[in-house]
Amino acid sequence: MDLRGELRARLAALERDGLYRRRRVLEGPQGVDVVVEGRQRVNFSGNDYLGLANHPEVVAALRRGAEDYGAGAGAAHLVSGHGRAHHALEEELAEFTGRERALLFSTGYMANLGAITALAGRGDTVFEDRLNHASLLDGALLSGARLKRYPHADAAALRQSLSAGSAGDASTRLIVSDGLFSMDGDVAPVAELAAVARELDAVLMIDDAHGLGVLGGRGGGVLELADLGQDAVPVLVGTLGKAFGTFGAFVAGCAELIEYLIQRARTYLYTTALPPAMAEASRAALRLAREESWRRGHLHRLIQRFRAGAGQLGLVLMPSTSPIQPVVLGANASVVRAGTALFEAGFLVGAIRPPTVPVGTARLRITLSAAHTETQVDSLLAALADLAARPEFRVGAMP
Ligand SMILES: *Cc1c(COP(=O)(O)O)cnc(C)c1O
Repeated sequence: MDLRGELRARLAALERDGLYRRRRVLEGPQGVDVVVEGRQRVNFSGNDYLGLANHPEVVAALRRGAEDYGAGAGAAHLVSGHGRAHHALEEELAEFTGRERALLFSTGYMANLGAITALAGRGDTVFEDRLNHASLLDGALLSGARLKRYPHADAAALRQSLSAGSAGDASTRLIVSDGLFSMDGDVAPVAELAAVARELDAVLMIDDAHGLGVLGGRGGGVLELADLGQDAVPVLVGTLGKAFGTFGAFVAGCAELIEYLIQRARTYLYTTALPPAMAEASRAALRLAREESWRRGHLHRLIQRFRAGAGQLGLVLMPSTSPIQPVVLGANASVVRAGTALFEAGFLVGAIRPPTVPVGTARLRITLSAAHTETQVDSLLAALADLAARPEFRVGAMP
């Protein structure tokens, strides 16, 4: 096979369908003011919701961690890679999430693959929200369990799907959902999901990668808002690369869950532990996220300001009270053109297309951060007003 020729054809097809993706090279640190290919831009596309990715105390902890522990972990956790910094971070994450224990993974993608494949296998069934993150769907596919997807945020449909199944047998039924949905910004009906799980003897797993640190007075995420503890949601996944601004992820739950994952989660066993210095940086970020609640306060005021301003422009927003504020344009080409126009106007905004979102729902994914100022939000709104005045973008018209 002519590999180069074949791939050229496939790439041309992606280009034709408006699905070709290009990376932008950032020159300085992550934050709301970024330098992209030599040009200063205001970043409304990242997940650094609390503005911690380049916080001096987090960076200092990383530097100190490197001096104390070196650059790399040198081995997997079960070999000789599990250090004091990892261990302390796990204890702090357990305390933060109100769980008995927490287990660090190198990324959220790996935490999800590891947890789902450890808990479910052939003969079992995994129930997933249609809009779940790719790593949750991939985990179910890799597990060999039957995968049943239910309509977005529809606990009644989930109940129906679960009760139609093999109730009463010994197989595992695992319900899996994002907590705060990454591309829509809405919150899963976690209390209803927990009720269905309890009623129909299933296990509930919530991945709150985007909610932790951001939602709730303490930053405890969707489960703090719904006041659900370990009994209601026995498997909680969080990541450190978003609101906490660093890198890595964790699963939190009862002691038996964590011990079992240590034995059986393949993405835990067969990979190098996070650099311990990164664990030190995450400890500093976790402390700031917990103590500096003004970050959440300012962020939520910016969210309200953005939504009020967008409403005045007639933009159709999604029902999101989170820092993720998508503007759905529908067609792939429109969203690419709109993203480029916003870039020219001084802003970095994500142009999100399938397969990240369903076909026909391509969108600008605008994200807010506690590091943004009101003036920056107002200037983004002014740029969106300019776009909305140009008919080719059909900004505000739902597909
Ligand atoms: C980003 C994300 C992940 C992956 O986390 P990484 O640490 O970036 O691998 C998992 N789940 C959800 C819902 C996410 O948004």
